[in-house]
Amino acid sequence: MKKVVIVGAGLGGLATGITLVKAGFHVTIFEKNDHVGGKMMPVQLDDYQFDFGPNTITMPTVFERVFEEAGERLEDYLELIKLEHHTNNHFMDGSFFAMTTNHDDMVKQFQQLDPHAQVSYSDYLEDVKFLYETAEKHFFYRTFSSWTDYTNLSLLKALLQVRPFETMDQFHRRYFENENIRHAFNRYATYIGSSPYVSPATFALIGHLEMTDGVYYVKGGNTNIAKAFAQVFEKLGGSLHTNCEVETLIVKDKRINGVELKGKEKVDADIVVVNGDLLKAYPMLVKEEDRPRFSNQKIQSYEPSISAYVIMAGTKERHENLIHHQVYFSGNYEQEFHELFVKKQLPSDPTIYICNSSYTDRDISPGDNLFILVNAPAVTPGQQIDEEGYKEVIYTKLKSFGIDVSSKLAVEKVVTPSEIERKFGSYRGALYGISSNRKIDSFLRPSNVAKDVDHLYFVGGTTHPGGGSPMVTISGLNVGHLLIDRYR
Ligand SMILES: Cc1cc2nc3c(=O)[nH]c(=O)nc-3n(C[C@H](O)[C@H](O)[C@H](O)COP(=O)(O)OP(=O)(O)OC[C@H]3O[C@@H](n4cnc5c(N)ncnc54)[C@H](O)[C@@H]3O)c2cc1C
Repeated sequence: MKKVVIVGAGLGGLATGITLVKAGFHVTIFEKNDHVGGKMMPVQLDDYQFDFGPNTITMPTVFERVFEEAGERLEDYLELIKLEHHTNNHFMDGSFFAMTTNHDDMVKQFQQLDPHAQVSYSDYLEDVKFLYETAEKHFFYRTFSSWTDYTNLSLLKALLQVRPFETMDQFHRRYFENENIRHAFNRYATYIGSSPYVSPATFALIGHLEMTDGVYYVKGGNTNIAKAFAQVFEKLGGSLHTNCEVETLIVKDKRINGVELKGKEKVDADIVVVNGDLLKAYPMLVKEEDRPRFSNQKIQSYEPSISAYVIMAGTKERHENLIHHQVYFSGNYEQEFHELFVKKQLPSDPTIYICNSSYTDRDISPGDNLFILVNAPAVTPGQQIDEEGYKEVIYTKLKSFGIDVSSKLAVEKVVTPSEIERKFGSYRGALYGISSNRKIDSFLRPSNVAKDVDHLYFVGGTTHPGGGSPMVTISGLNVGHLLIDRYR
């Protein structure tokens, strides 16, 4: 059976590994960090446990599918908790809007805040459901590995149906007249690292996931998803090595031969799958002359998604006014995206997201375990961040909303975009690979199949179908299935 090496144990790499090892391939995963899961990283600060990375889990059926493919059951590994009333949104004018999958509660709020939305909300839910179902049927489970993928008529028809020519903001304007409420829905663009004012309305489909399907948390921490994937992979006979960096891909006569590890050990492989961010890992692992159709110049032409400035803060006392997810919005949301993507600077009046998973799961920390995230521009070489100064901007803004973190601090750790770039090997610190601000990058992401090197494949957020924990898992499954079709 073919020998496969996977570079990186992010969710994408692990999903491919499970699919292939179950199908009888001989699979080895090398991961440079000491944890599995990549950006889905557990952080322990004294007694306080944090999920770095995915705090909002949607599309549980995707994770279920990985277990099913392995002949296992998700519920034997993970306890998923559905958060019905999931996100509290706070605005600078003092108003408040709670997001919940409970339809009646939503309509009640619209009565007060947005009479137009009270009428149009049902249409909104229908329309985002259609966007989701169309994208799921036609886009998610393709690898775009053959020309028929591009010339398929039903695919072209579907593409026109998912509102590619309208922006997410324009789409939301039809249903929500209250500007604050629109901001709350427009924030979904940041789930793909993009701006709602330019990215296509297609991604409003996230509204279907959050407002109908549901937002989930995994008991004990979301990072348990990655740990469970690794457990299943090894149980099936896969070989997984952490603290093991791949330094070079061995390419001979335009064909992959194996990999060379840091320390110079060589490992033979018939097939290599790279899970590290394609834009960063490919040029690091393969000489430019061996990848003429993916030159350094081409790499620079891509716009990375947003990055993040993160504070993990454990508090001695709990805040009574915090739930699992909450957002404190900027006074000028549109300007925030202008600063992120045009001026390429940290927002002067940032929107602040806080996850307090200990609200749902009291066992994981003695006080609040606040994961505080602010959107940040992708790393620009040479640009410095005033780490301490910006932390003060965030804490001061939170104080104005009645959240006094600094006086209650027990533990604290700041993670900047440069650290995200270094730790996970993500291109310019991007959280979600390439941004979806340009239509071409939304619908034609870099292929999962290398064009210049035979038997080399890519999974993860920069490739199709995109970033976010369920999407990268789908990319892992897609590539697993493609390899089974091609090589078994
Ligand atoms: C702060 C933050 C918040 C987020 N919030 C959410 C959220 O709420 N919901 C959501 O769904 N998603 C969220 N995401 C995005 C989500 O985490 C990612 O889209 C997803 O986890 C990426 O998975 P991946 O398969 O692309 O691989 P990655 O997680 O990028 O993993 C790639 C792995 O490859 C390894 N690697 C790279 N190069 C090498 C090499 N040469 N040798 C060996 N190993 C190598 C890296 O160390 C890494 O472990 C967030 C991400 C971050 C950082």
